[in-house]
Amino acid sequence: MSNECLFCKIIGGDLPSEIVYRDDQVTAFRDINPVAPTHILIVPNKHIASTNELSPEDETTIGHLFTTAKNLATQEGIAQSGYRLIINTGPDAGQIIFHLHLHLLGGQRMRHPMG
Ligand code: 5GP
Ligand code: ZN
Repeated sequence: MSNECLFCKIIGGDLPSEIVYRDDQVTAFRDINPVAPTHILIVPNKHIASTNELSPEDETTIGHLFTTAKNLATQEGIAQSGYRLIINTGPDAGQIIFHLHLHLLGGQRMRHPMG
């Protein structure tokens, strides 16, 4: 938990958001500025600033981010039409929130640039 972190505040319920899933390891909520019909952010409940701060003890949680993404894709009805999972790390990738998050994007043919 980081007092300054927006996503820690969302996880802790101190900042409102549209939460679509939560358990003891991860929380998923809709992006405030969606770039696709489905745009969900899936975050570890533990404050990890970015993939640069990952340690071996986080591997189970990070794996769980991906199975949660798969389950939410099914729930959103986009598992068969397809979706994109994105993690931005650092300035060149455009990371603006320094609490690791997995973007789940779907519901349209992707136009978001890859590189
Ligand atoms: P990044 O570029 O760091 O990978 O993406 C951060 C994402 O967080 C952006 O897509 C942005 O729209 C989203 N975001 C920023 N602030 C908030 C907020 O207060 N609530 C929610 N739900 N999403 C946010
Ligand atoms: Zn945080």
